[in-house]
Amino acid sequence: MNVGRDNQFQLQTVAKQESALLAPYAFPSAKSAGRRFAEPDHPYRSPFCRDRDRILHSAAFRRLSGKMQVFTGDRGDYHRTRLTHTMEVASIARTIGRALRLNEDLIEALALLHDIGHPPFGHAGEDALNEYLADEGGFSHNRYALTLVEELERPYGQFPGLNLTQEVLDGQRIRIDKSNDQHAVPVLEVQVVDAADSITYDAHDTDDAVKLGLVTLDQLCELRIVQECISRVGESFQTLHNDRQRRRLTHSLINLQVNDVLYETAKVLQKSSRLSHPNKFRVISSQELEESKKELEEFLYANVYRHPELVRVRNLAQQQIHRIVDRYVKMPHLLPDGFQNRVNHLGGMRSAVDYVAGMTDRFCQSQYDWLTSSEGLVR
Ligand code: MG
Repeated sequence: MNVGRDNQFQLQTVAKQESALLAPYAFPSAKSAGRRFAEPDHPYRSPFCRDRDRILHSAAFRRLSGKMQVFTGDRGDYHRTRLTHTMEVASIARTIGRALRLNEDLIEALALLHDIGHPPFGHAGEDALNEYLADEGGFSHNRYALTLVEELERPYGQFPGLNLTQEVLDGQRIRIDKSNDQHAVPVLEVQVVDAADSITYDAHDTDDAVKLGLVTLDQLCELRIVQECISRVGESFQTLHNDRQRRRLTHSLINLQVNDVLYETAKVLQKSSRLSHPNKFRVISSQELEESKKELEEFLYANVYRHPELVRVRNLAQQQIHRIVDRYVKMPHLLPDGFQNRVNHLGGMRSAVDYVAGMTDRFCQSQYDWLTSSEGLVR
């Protein structure tokens, strides 16, 4: 069998598939700037397909199942974890991307990567770790995602990291500080993932908060976006049991937002005179949706994210993280070998923070228990 000729044929097929499916403003695989360490093309997977698979098969991705989104595991198993949030983002982003004829493989890779750098205990953990690195740029889960996929994940012998394409790395880099370069408009695939992230957490945080009893449907009915969603469900909404009402509301919240983003963006894209400058295109939503989302997000912030019970968990988590990092900084020999090696060139603080940031909530708790136990304290 002539492998070279077969490869050429299969690669042509991927390119042909994309040229048939993708819109002119989509980002085709053929335009990829490639990888830091050159690798031969895969015979039948596009570069972004491979990136998606590399992220999916990474240890850091699997650990997302043990990391909280908003609620910790002691509140049952209904609510979203960082992993299920990520899968919901990927699903919604692909729906939007497919309808707009964008590159779904790039979208999926970006979506699976977008939250991979979250430390244990969500934003509470991030704030605690940030304090340690205040003098050296701070800690950001978006930047740590790059540390994971460029340095800490090491499935290949010949190079560190996952050796992802430049486009996927750039898409994540843009998330680090969006105010840094306001004039550069990211490719549409990056913007779609950003929009899908917001659609997803607004919908599922509302769902989880009602299910866990932190807010009621009656409270939510004061909000414009909820009133609009209920009116779209129709009169049957009032006849439903509370549990069904919550589910219908969640579905309606997703549909309302996806439809709005899709149609508002499609209107822009249809202005064909600008097709030769795809980087100028923006994924947008209507002014009305933006305002009603803002109202919902302010409600969630005041009544859910700052709920006394969540603040209690947050404070506890931060105390644990402080105790653990302090111990590793004082006693770096307790770090795993790979992180001990990083102490020489990155310093003890950064190495300890990088190690703790990769932990799941469960592992963080168990490390805290061990390090503060009589056995751990004498090491
Ligand atoms: Mg997210």
